[in-house]
Amino acid sequence: MSTLWDQTLAELRHDLSSQDYVAWISCLRMAPEGSDALTVEAPSAFHRNWVQKHFLERIRSTVASVAGRPVPVVVAVGAPPMMAAVGAVAANAPRPRESGNGAAPATPPLSFETFVVGSCNELAHAAARSVAEAPGRQFNPLVIHGGVGLGKTHLLNAVAHAIRARFRSYRVLSIGAEAFINEMVTAVRRQQMDAFHARYRRIDTLIVDDVQFIAGKERTQEEFLHTFNLLCAAGKQIVLSSDRAPRDIPQLEQGLRSRFEGGMIAEVTVPDSETRRRILERKAALAGFTLPEPVLAFLATRVRAISVRELEGALTRIRAVASLTTRPVDLALAEELIGPLYPETRDRVSVERVESLVCAQLAVEASQLAAGRSSRAVLARQIAMFLLKKLVGLSLAVIGERYKRDHTTVLHAVRVIETRRTCDPEVRRLVGALEEKL
Ligand code: ADP
Ligand code: MG
Repeated sequence: MSTLWDQTLAELRHDLSSQDYVAWISCLRMAPEGSDALTVEAPSAFHRNWVQKHFLERIRSTVASVAGRPVPVVVAVGAPPMMAAVGAVAANAPRPRESGNGAAPATPPLSFETFVVGSCNELAHAAARSVAEAPGRQFNPLVIHGGVGLGKTHLLNAVAHAIRARFRSYRVLSIGAEAFINEMVTAVRRQQMDAFHARYRRIDTLIVDDVQFIAGKERTQEEFLHTFNLLCAAGKQIVLSSDRAPRDIPQLEQGLRSRFEGGMIAEVTVPDSETRRRILERKAALAGFTLPEPVLAFLATRVRAISVRELEGALTRIRAVASLTTRPVDLALAEELIGPLYPETRDRVSVERVESLVCAQLAVEASQLAAGRSSRAVLARQIAMFLLKKLVGLSLAVIGERYKRDHTTVLHAVRVIETRRTCDPEVRRLVGALEEKL
């Protein structure tokens, strides 16, 4: 059952908007199996009602398509009964006017104006600004890398937007690496490579998001390098994003790697609480509402997000309740809605602490934890995934994002460690020692 739910989550994540997914779906937990039905638990009654109203049909059909047969799906409340109060009001409230997520703001533009700068992204932001002011002058290429949901696509869009506004005659092409690959494959198949080359040669600024996807694809990398060299030689600006540093992208062709490394490389990292606070403040303002000081402080400390999308999810939930009920947005509301999702244990055992202890215990370098291929690094990664699941309570999806792995890989890792712990004394000792320290 748990894989059924994990696969369903993966499908839903693909189908729903990321706001809806993060705000309402990602925090549903599968209840212990007991009957034929698949029971998932929502953190509050309000949450359950919302999911039932807006997403249950979608969840049912997805579960059925994953399982290959209809499976009854039940949404229950997994949090303390005090939640019922909010749910009761919400259940009687009229359906929101807008479809889907009624409280969602029109998405604010991904521009420099809406980007919050903190120590986690200062360098990337400054480099992006400078590229937007004088494209092709310095920092060519500019490579922005970092984990999921940390603002890479936002910054790339901001650059594109600013260059278009400032240099009206510039031809700016902003494209995801997957779209680039598809375009190229189609051109090859239709024997239209000349047109493909001509199109890319005309560009003044080339912006490619998630460039790690081209790794391992021989012909695509060849074409990309070719385009890259032509544009660079002509002094055109290139901006790239990647989910990891160029040196850590496996199967990246050497020529490309050295080209990427010859430019400006800037990392975006997880925001600290001060930056989280300013992001929340700004996002709320953009959506046209103000969070009272205590709520802001609570959210900024409690939602120790490893992705800015989690902060957006917290805001979306609070806005939904505020817009559907007469409840004021106060600390009590924030605690009820957000508290169960970010239990305080997550403050005590932080992700960073788990990782640094695992690295120390297994004598693996921090940089090897996500990318290392030695058997030691693989074991360290599996143990880290196991502990993040068991002790920190992160979802498979969130852990997967952190290590750039599929959620099924994370599930596999958790099971491997569970098994090896019972039959491999070395693993039992390591995990035991870590649990002790944590
Ligand atoms: P990535 O491409 O790194 O996965 P995105 O750029 O898609 O992440 O960011 C995810 C969401 O978080 C977007 O809605 C984006 O606007 C928001 N976001 C990320 N960083 C910031 C920031 N520093 N200021 C404002 N919004 C941010
Ligand atoms: Mg992105």
